[in-house]
Amino acid sequence: MNQLWTIIGLLTLCLGGCYYVGSRDFTRPTTAPTTTDDRSLADLLPTTAPIEAPESPDTTAAISPTLSIEEPPPGQALPPAPQPLTSAYLPILMFHHIEDVPADHPDAIYRGLAYSPERFRTLLQYCADTGVEVLTFTQLQQIREGTLPLPERAVILSFDDGYANNYTNAFPLLEEYGFKGNFNIITDKIGESDFYMSEDQIADLVAAGHQLCSHTQTHPDLTQLSANALRRELGDSRRWLSERYQTPINCLVYPAGEFNDTVVEVAAADYVFARTTRPGKTLDFTTPHTLPTVRMFPETGLQSIQRWWD
Ligand SMILES: [Zn+2]
Repeated sequence: MNQLWTIIGLLTLCLGGCYYVGSRDFTRPTTAPTTTDDRSLADLLPTTAPIEAPESPDTTAAISPTLSIEEPPPGQALPPAPQPLTSAYLPILMFHHIEDVPADHPDAIYRGLAYSPERFRTLLQYCADTGVEVLTFTQLQQIREGTLPLPERAVILSFDDGYANNYTNAFPLLEEYGFKGNFNIITDKIGESDFYMSEDQIADLVAAGHQLCSHTQTHPDLTQLSANALRRELGDSRRWLSERYQTPINCLVYPAGEFNDTVVEVAAADYVFARTTRPGKTLDFTTPHTLPTVRMFPETGLQSIQRWWD
């Protein structure tokens, strides 16, 4: 029982930390310390429940008799303490445009970054039919911390650059299937033209439970920036998104996949996770700021996806 209370206490602490949003640049009042962020608070927590809990059998009743219903029935074991994972086989799928682009479109780069809505629907249908869970980076954080079980088969859908077709084409399909996406926003590009999602469109995504990740302010090559510019691109974009949309931002996506040791170090100060463009399906949580991805080419279809869990 004492161990259970310790776990409940830890979970309360963790949830508080997960939903605390840094307020350095904003006026929203908060009593939380302004220098604390999600990552550092989570990392400060012990990874296993301490065993030196009070021994008195009266402690529970003294705190709150009504909560004693949490006690498991006689003979039923207490749930095990959360065990952080060091890695997970969990493909993060990288999309850009969800759009039909004709095969003879003159812009080869644009063509190469497009995934057809029909093919996207086929993927979602496959996930629904075969029990492949579709996760957010918030759930990934819980999986890493051991508070959410790692599904046998799961993917993360990650959409780069905040294109308007993500809203018009991907969002309705995700809603139809009840899946959540992770939209990687370049904050200075929001509403810049019809090519990018507007502030209100992004607000709709958040209201529907989809997750935002930062894709920096201006999408520069981060390896070429001064230390101050790097901190602005990574830190200010996170703070702006979290304040504007009142949602925790625990993930970063490096523009064009460019990073070096300095970039990783600065990213680690603001984010729990950062995604690269390096190919891979196994996430090493000991290096959470260089997570690999699976690039979804226009021709990537079910034939290759089905093999991922063979
Ligand atoms: Zn990008």
